[in-house]
Amino acid sequence: MFLRELTEPTSTQKGIGRVSSETLKKAGITTVADLLLHIPRNYEDRQTVVPIAQAVAAGIAANTVVTVITHDYIGRGKNATLKIFIEDESARAALLCFGRNFLRSALVPGKRYFLYGQFSYKYNELQTSAFETEPYTQNPAIFGNILPVYPLYGSLTQRFFRNVIQAALRNYAPDIENELPERIVEKYGLEQKSRAIRLVHFPGSLEQAEQAKKSLGYEEFFYLQLVIKRRAKKLKASPRHSGKIGAGLAAKLEARLPFGLTTDQRKVLAEIRDDLESGTPMMRLLQGDVGCGKTLVAFIAALFAVEAGEQAAMMAPTELLARQHAETAASMLEPLGVRVALLSGTVAPRMRARLLEALACGDIDILLGTHALFSQDVKFKRLRLVIIDEQHRFGVLQRLALVEKGELGKSPPDMLLMTATPIPRSLALTVFGDLDVSTIRTMPPGRKPVETHLARIGNEEKVYSWVSREVKNGRQAYFVYPLIEQSENLELKDAQSMFHNLKSRVFPDLRLALLHSRLPEEEKKETMDLFVGGKIDILVATSVIEVGVNVPNATCMVVEHAERFGLSALHQLRGRVGRAEHQSYAFFIYDKELTEEGRSRLKAIKETTDGFVIAEKDLSIRGPGELTGVRQAGRFKLVFVDILRDLELLKTARADVEQLLEDDPGLIDPQNRVVRTVLDRVPPFSEETAAGG
Ligand code: ADP
Ligand code: MG
Repeated sequence: MFLRELTEPTSTQKGIGRVSSETLKKAGITTVADLLLHIPRNYEDRQTVVPIAQAVAAGIAANTVVTVITHDYIGRGKNATLKIFIEDESARAALLCFGRNFLRSALVPGKRYFLYGQFSYKYNELQTSAFETEPYTQNPAIFGNILPVYPLYGSLTQRFFRNVIQAALRNYAPDIENELPERIVEKYGLEQKSRAIRLVHFPGSLEQAEQAKKSLGYEEFFYLQLVIKRRAKKLKASPRHSGKIGAGLAAKLEARLPFGLTTDQRKVLAEIRDDLESGTPMMRLLQGDVGCGKTLVAFIAALFAVEAGEQAAMMAPTELLARQHAETAASMLEPLGVRVALLSGTVAPRMRARLLEALACGDIDILLGTHALFSQDVKFKRLRLVIIDEQHRFGVLQRLALVEKGELGKSPPDMLLMTATPIPRSLALTVFGDLDVSTIRTMPPGRKPVETHLARIGNEEKVYSWVSREVKNGRQAYFVYPLIEQSENLELKDAQSMFHNLKSRVFPDLRLALLHSRLPEEEKKETMDLFVGGKIDILVATSVIEVGVNVPNATCMVVEHAERFGLSALHQLRGRVGRAEHQSYAFFIYDKELTEEGRSRLKAIKETTDGFVIAEKDLSIRGPGELTGVRQAGRFKLVFVDILRDLELLKTARADVEQLLEDDPGLIDPQNRVVRTVLDRVPPFSEETAAGG
C-alpha cells in the first residue's frame, strides 16, 4: 500500500465525528492519506530538561520535575481558585488552576511530578496558569517525548490531531510501502517510508524529525523531477525534420522598421534559428526586462516558421494583451503577406467556426490569443512554433499540457517562453526539465530610465499637477488602483470612484476613461483603441494593464495604494511608461499604514530599476512557487520541502533522476520496479491536474 492509496474518508476513523470531518474537509483533509500528510508545523520538546529559573531567563517553557509543597486558594466559596505551590531544583513557583480545581486531588503535596509550562514573574512570584503535569514515574507517557504541534482548524485542538493521527499511524503505518528504489534509500541513509511518516509526527528526537523530513522531502523532489524529466524527454525524443530556415520575411520586416534591432535581439534570434534548424524541438526561455523588445523577437521567430510553410501560435495571459499583440502583428506583418488572426473568448460562434476552418487548412499563418488557443477544437494544419508571453503567469503543468496539445500526432512544436520575471537558472532547469535560456540585457537606444517617486497619501496633489503638465505637453498617463469598486471592508481608493473624482474635480478639462476586467470586452477594446490613438489623456485602471500593454506616448504611471501591489507587479506597471524617447515618471502613492513588507517593497522599487535585481528580491520575499507556477500544480503540493530553501536536496534528486533515466529509460530494471509501480498506481501528477492551474 502506498501512502496516497489510503483513500478511506477521515469519517471512517475512530474519534472523528461528523462535525470534525466537516471541519477537516474544509481544510482540505478528506482521506486518511491527507491526515497523515498533515504535518506538524513545529514540535514541543518535552525531552530536554529546562528548570524553571533557566526557562524564565530564556523566555521559553520549563520542562522539569517538581515537588508539590502545599495547596492554597485565591478568593472564597464557589469561585475560589486553587493555587498550588511547587518547587524544582532551581526555583519555587505557583500554579494557578483557573477552572481546574480538580487538580487538588491529582497534585498531592509531598509528591513529585513532571511539569511543562510557561512561567513568568507576577505579583512578586513566579507563576503559571498554562501548564501540564504527569506523575513522576520511570515510564512517563509524555515527558521525555517530542510532541507534534499541528496547524489547527476551526475548533479542532492539538489533542484531537495528536490522537487521531496517532491512531491512524497505528492502523496504517506498518503497511505503508517505500516509493523509492532501495538502492537510493541506502545511498543516502534515508528512512523507510513507513518509519519516516511515523517519525515526522512522533519523533524520538528533534534530529529524528529532521531526518524523517529529509527522507520524505527527497522523495517529493525525486518524483517532481521524474515527471518533469520524462515529459521533457518524450518531447525531445519525437522525430522531426531539420534543415535551413529562410529569413527572407524577417529581413523584409527589418527593412520596414523605423529602428534597427538591438545587439541582444539579434543574438537571441540567432539562437532561436539554430534551435529551429536543429533536429530536436526547441524549448527556450527568453528573459528580458520590461520594454526590452521581446514582442518583436517573437514576431520574427514566428516569421521563421511561416517562411518554412508552417504556423505559429502566440499566447498571452490576458485578452487585452492578446488583442494588442494581434493588432501589432497585423500592422507589422500583414503588409508582408502574412495572415494573422486573433482567437479570443469573445469571437462570435460563426466567426469562430470560420476561423478554425481557416486555421485547419493552413489559411492562417499566425494565431494569437489567450489560453483559449489550446481548447480542444482548435486544430492547426502544421503548428511549428508556440510562443508563450509572460509565461510565469501560467502554471508549469499547464504549459507542459499545451506542448502536448499542439503535438498533432507527430512532431511537437518548438516552444518559446517569454518573461520579464527571470528565475535563477538552476530553478528554471528544475522546473522545466531541459530548457535553454536566452537573455536580452540591452534596452533599445535612447531610453531614459523612468524617474520613480514615492508619495504618502495626502500629498498626491503635487503628483496630480505634474500629470496635468505632462498631458498639456501632449503626453498620456495611467492611474492604477487596487480595487475596481468600493469595498465595504477595505478603506481603499478604487478605480471606479477615483475615475469619477479625477474626472469631475481634478482634471475637468482632460479626457479620462475607465478600464477594468469586469467591463464588457467590446468596451475594453474601444477604450484601449482610443487610448492608443491618443484620444484619451488619462486611463484610470486596475492591474489589468499590468502586463504587456504598449503605448509609447504614455509617460506617467500613477499607482495609488502602491503598498498593496507585489514587487514584480510594481515593476511591470512602471514598465508601461518609458517606452519611447520621452522622459517618463512613476509615482507610487502609499498609505501611511504600512506593513514592514510593504515598506521594503517600496524601498526596493524606488532604488532599483533593474528587473533582474527586482526579480531576485521578489523571489526572496515571495518564494519561488509563484514565479515558477509549481504552486499551481493542483494536488501535487510540496509538503515536506520548499524549492528555494531545499535547493541542495532538489539538485541531488535531480541528478539521481537523470542518472536513473539514463541507465534505465524504460524503468524496466527490477531495481526500479517500485518507481514504475508508483507511476502506474498513484501518478504524482494526474492528467486532471495538468489541465487546471
Ligand atoms: P517587452 O519586452 O516588455 O515585451 P515590447 O516588446 O512591448 O517590450 O517593446 C517595447 C517597445 O520597444 C515597443 O514600442 C517596441 O516597438 C520598441 N522596440 C522594440 N525593439 C526595439 C528596437 N530595437 N529599437 C527601438 N525600439 C524598439
Ligand atoms: Mg511584453
